[in-house]
Amino acid sequence: MTLSEFDIIQQVFKQQKINRQDVIIGIDDDAAVLEIPPGLELAISVDTLIPDVHFPGNMKPSDIGYRSLAVNLSDLAAMGAVPAWATLALTLPESNEAWLRAFASGFFTLADEFDVQLIGGDTTRGPLSITVQVHGFLLKDKRLTRSGARPGDVIGLTGNLGDAAGGLALWESTDKNHALLKQHLARPKPRIDAGKTLLELASSAIDISDGLLADLGHILESSHVGASIMVADLPLSLALCDAVGLDQARDFALTGGDDYELCFTLPADKISVLREIIDFHLIGVIEQQQGLRCQLPDGSSYVAQQSGYQHF
Ligand code: ADP
Ligand code: MG
Repeated sequence: MTLSEFDIIQQVFKQQKINRQDVIIGIDDDAAVLEIPPGLELAISVDTLIPDVHFPGNMKPSDIGYRSLAVNLSDLAAMGAVPAWATLALTLPESNEAWLRAFASGFFTLADEFDVQLIGGDTTRGPLSITVQVHGFLLKDKRLTRSGARPGDVIGLTGNLGDAAGGLALWESTDKNHALLKQHLARPKPRIDAGKTLLELASSAIDISDGLLADLGHILESSHVGASIMVADLPLSLALCDAVGLDQARDFALTGGDDYELCFTLPADKISVLREIIDFHLIGVIEQQQGLRCQLPDGSSYVAQQSGYQHF
């Protein structure tokens, strides 16, 4: 079945369950009108997803919908922001009702979980392209940035790395042992709650979209510091190590991307209070000396096989 542009908006994207009080005008008029609560600041982030660049072209439409919002919410998580609203600019090669309903169901599953209302967007014809913008709140003058890391801080991670890159490498595999890895690629969990906690305790944070080396590198640059990480301490899932072996698992963890865990730096005296609130792994320390050093247990340096993903 094909739907008209009007029907796509009315019958698919206007069908979200939640209805926030701060949305004065949502989908329907020429622009959305929103109320920012007093004392709060707005955090905004946008990401575009293109098939075979950001996700395998044969990924299920419900997963594409989920993932499109997840990668955006992850950016809000990395700022410590509480998500509120989203817009969706969708370019589609054809109006396929089943595809659109599945896409929207994945998108709304995650949106409803975090009380995010879809407040508008645009719908056009062309090669598939999905652009989501998210809006979240921060208390005035309170934010988690990339620039606050200081020598002596420890480096933490909210979860395992490399699973999504493993899932991508094994995307066509039908082995059920690989299903969990593929799930990490299809439905990454934005670490919103961890971000809220880290806002109070961490000195800097970033979400891992392009691989640990690349993304931790952004913290180091913004903070004008260096770091050493212990390769043996990288958190790797058993599923990943079983599927690809330890060396490849480490490479995926360092350079693979798509995990959407938070990498953060933390003053060492905050480790025990953070441990009481969230689970995390420590992988290294921030140092005065610029550059990123990856150490193996025997003291030698680890050289990764690839660097992080770059479009150009
Ligand atoms: P205009 O021609 O003024 O840009 P549109 O017909 O594109 O208006 O959009 C009508 C309404 O539907 C607007 O509120 C717009 O934000 C919303 N909308 C359009 N496409 C989408 C979409 N893919 N998801 C959510 N809202 C959408
Ligand atoms: Mg429009």
